[in-house]
Amino acid sequence: MQYDLIIVGWGAAGFSAAIRASEITGEEMKIALIGKGNIGGTCVNVGCIPSKFLIEKSLRINDILYNSNGVSKAELFSEVMKELKNTVYKSRVGKYEDVIKNYKNVDLYYGEASFLDNRNIQVKNANNTHILRGSYIIISTGSSPTIPPFANLNDIKTSDNFWDIEVLPEKLAIIGGGPIGLEIGQAMRRFGTEVSIFEIANEILPGYSEEIQSAARNIMQYDGIQIHTDTKIDNITSENSKCIFYGNNKECFDEILIATGRYPNTATLNLQAAGVQTDSKGFIITDRKMKTSSEGIFAAGDCVSGKLKLETLSAREGVIAVENIFGYGKEIDLNATPWAIFTTPNIAGVGISEHDAIQKGLLFDKRVIDASSAIRNSISGNKYGFAKILIERTNRKILGIEVISPEAADFIVEGVYALRFGLTVDDIIDSTHIFPSHSEIIKMAAQSFKRDINKMSCCME
Ligand SMILES: Cc1cc2nc3c(=O)[nH]c(=O)nc-3n(C[C@H](O)[C@H](O)[C@H](O)COP(=O)(O)OP(=O)(O)OC[C@H]3O[C@@H](n4cnc5c(N)ncnc54)[C@H](O)[C@@H]3O)c2cc1C
Repeated sequence: MQYDLIIVGWGAAGFSAAIRASEITGEEMKIALIGKGNIGGTCVNVGCIPSKFLIEKSLRINDILYNSNGVSKAELFSEVMKELKNTVYKSRVGKYEDVIKNYKNVDLYYGEASFLDNRNIQVKNANNTHILRGSYIIISTGSSPTIPPFANLNDIKTSDNFWDIEVLPEKLAIIGGGPIGLEIGQAMRRFGTEVSIFEIANEILPGYSEEIQSAARNIMQYDGIQIHTDTKIDNITSENSKCIFYGNNKECFDEILIATGRYPNTATLNLQAAGVQTDSKGFIITDRKMKTSSEGIFAAGDCVSGKLKLETLSAREGVIAVENIFGYGKEIDLNATPWAIFTTPNIAGVGISEHDAIQKGLLFDKRVIDASSAIRNSISGNKYGFAKILIERTNRKILGIEVISPEAADFIVEGVYALRFGLTVDDIIDSTHIFPSHSEIIKMAAQSFKRDINKMSCCME
């Protein structure tokens, strides 16, 4: 079967690519969209949607319990997990299954795809094998959770199946202190679970700035989460309960969540046959136009090398890949891509980190101000957080912003515009913010480049 465009992977990147290609061609382009597992991929089924649903419910737990006549946290948790599945189902149907039906030019293929050569793809499922030929191909096969070799799948959960839990675990071990571990750990702690996070590195959130690492540790510990850093898990066994072994220690839990990172879904694609190059971990190497090493083959989303794994970024890359098929000459702007960790308070950032600025030999200045500087934090009772801004010394342009604050995931976009449009720290100072809002912490951090913010009155000027 001949197609104008074959898209391998039906998650965020694949969907945005299929829709953009349909839009550009007035739904004339003949597209094959191939996938396995639930349509919609990671975000809707096992990623953003279930995790943010659990977090939201956990934040409102006291209100819900207050209004629900003697229901226990354990009963509430089971109810929440049922609702979670329903929300995932509705989101999948509403935002993926029903949406794609609008595009009559898109044929869906269910099955495992692999390249036969640089234009032909085989799609195999239990019943059929199809051979598809594409004038252009976009690979958007995403990523999967890594699992340590000693872990038996029956003993552990990953972010792929954590959402199947129905009974509130009394004790939960989370192996891996990255964003997923912290988000789920904090949410479960609010339901009353005893949560222990085990991290092999010397701090949680490895790779993030020291300020973020130390604030995150304080936040987790304040919530009563046990943090074990510099801790390598050697084994996991299952007896009456599930036990982990580290050093000379053995500790047992009701559930163990492995959140130690993700690997690209590229191993079975037979990329060599298509001449598509990968990095040492199997992530696909692309340029900023999302072109791979093989002419006419693009890649987008979590399977691409050297970038953050985010829903919005994946979708953006899918669009850019398509636009470049049509010669738009678009490039992905990784520098102005915001990221957020949905802990309470949120951790968010955009632009270059201090570590990377030093590595690149940039001449920069920085300011870090405490969350208490913004009066909204004392009103809302938030104890933890900060804002950090890096600027280029010569022209005062914003290089990077990091914030820990309530609502930081919502207002970090201020930094996106600053980076995208080359704004200076003075542009932020000269812009009126809302008082009293959490976002004013960015303006105050900007002002701290010019004046002593302790000598300012409450209204930011
Ligand atoms: C717990 C968790 C929470 C998250 N929270 C957020 C968040 O709050 N905000 C955010 O921006 N991001 C979040 N993410 C990240 C986000 O989910 C991903 O970045 C995004 O879903 C990646 O989209 P994708 O299209 O690249 O891949 P995917 O959505 O993974 O889609 C890839 C698809 O390709 C299929 N596939 C793979 N191999 C083949 C093959 N050989 N043949 C056919 N099909 C194949 C897969 O089965 C899958 O359906 C979260 C992730 C997790 C795990």
